[in-house]
Amino acid sequence: MNPLLSIQTPIPFDQIRAEQVEPALDELLREARGAIDAIAAQTGPRTYESTLAALDAATEKVEYAMGLVRHLEGVTTYPELRAAHNAVEPKVSEFYSRIPLHEGLWQCLKSYAQTSGTSLAGVRKRNLEKTLDYFRRHGADLDAAGKARLAAIDVELAELTTKFSQHVLDATNAYDEVWAGKEQLSGLPESAVEAAAASAKAKGKEGWRFTLQAPSYIALMTYLDNPAARERFYRAYMTRASSGELDNSSIVPRVLELRKEKARLLGFADFADLVLVDRMAKTGARAMEFLEDLRGRSIPFFERENTQLHAFRGDLEGGGAPGLQAWDIGYYAEKERKAKYDFDEEELRPYFPVEQVVAGMFETVTRLYGVVMREAPGVPVWDKDVKYYEILEGSQVLGGFYADWFPRENKRGGAWMDAFLTGSPAVPDRVHIGAINGNLTPPVEGKPALLTHREVETIFHEFGHLLHHCLSRVEARGLSGTNVAWDFVELP
Ligand SMILES: [Zn+2]
Repeated sequence: MNPLLSIQTPIPFDQIRAEQVEPALDELLREARGAIDAIAAQTGPRTYESTLAALDAATEKVEYAMGLVRHLEGVTTYPELRAAHNAVEPKVSEFYSRIPLHEGLWQCLKSYAQTSGTSLAGVRKRNLEKTLDYFRRHGADLDAAGKARLAAIDVELAELTTKFSQHVLDATNAYDEVWAGKEQLSGLPESAVEAAAASAKAKGKEGWRFTLQAPSYIALMTYLDNPAARERFYRAYMTRASSGELDNSSIVPRVLELRKEKARLLGFADFADLVLVDRMAKTGARAMEFLEDLRGRSIPFFERENTQLHAFRGDLEGGGAPGLQAWDIGYYAEKERKAKYDFDEEELRPYFPVEQVVAGMFETVTRLYGVVMREAPGVPVWDKDVKYYEILEGSQVLGGFYADWFPRENKRGGAWMDAFLTGSPAVPDRVHIGAINGNLTPPVEGKPALLTHREVETIFHEFGHLLHHCLSRVEARGLSGTNVAWDFVELP
């Protein structure tokens, strides 16, 4: 039995294997295409159930299975899984691109919109409007040649952007330095030294290992006394995936070219206008105006703070101190904070053990919204450090989520939230399920992970997205939870 073929809860993360990915997606895509053809082919009066709700249902399993595959590729990748992911990604992307290009389906939706669709209200009305807009913006009104070109562009874009992020991950992991001498560590706080020793040990090496993963890199940039080593790491970080086998520099212009062509094909001046029409900013020009306005207001402060920081360096090192380089800013800014405000980021860490932060956040959310989070052991996870929780309102389970906080070599950088399943009142026991992921300071040798204040913010931020997903009561899956404009999504 292929676990990707049907929606199951708890999600069987312990059973999903790379070799199941292609057969499952091939089968699910075939089913979904059949379901969409059936919507288009139906005769008789069209209803909400037989059009929009049926369309929602037609894509649900593909979305679920591909969501899991993308997630696992992001958090616990291995060569076979990446190959399987890369094999199905273009097929799935082509499937989604072709939905608005399906002539019969488009006619069906338009005729529904002109008949019984006119009497819709509330969420259903919005779902119809959003769907019609989406279809138009994705080529439903193009001629046959235009539709074929658009589909080809989308497939190529999906392949290129996937390759882009895989290059970044591989290039991030490709750089490390193992230092043998204690004197090389000068300036680093104990937490960074311990993490570097643990990292070297995990690689079977002596000494202290530093990488481009966030906790290691940020500690070097903030505290390391040796400017030459800071510069090396800075340059390595900033030039990731820009040479050799992992070079993204030919991918970037091709992506820009394809995006521009796509926008023109769909009647927009450029890609910014195409993507922003459905977001709060609305147009590329407004987004630029916003940035320019922000820049204008920030610049006097930026210049003043830079001058102050340079003067501070002069106080430390004498009047002839050189100008600040990019790899100096974080280092001297930290020293300045300590000197002027007696503020030391590291001294805050003992107040923020990850368990206590999570417990405090849950308590805050309970007071605000009346929902309770509780750990639910025994649910299959993809890594031993991952925890699973349920969200309850009274005795009712509203949803569940996985928390995966620490970096691994097989996990991509940054922090993000994933939605795996959208709860539905129509399906018993179908609750919202998602995940929150980060690359926070890991625990070292049995001690609790002690976080920085910014990492605490990250946990709250991602949990905000998770709650947005898990507390949703919107019946249309495409409008539920975090399925909102991509800039608005940051507000909750
Ligand atoms: Zn966010």
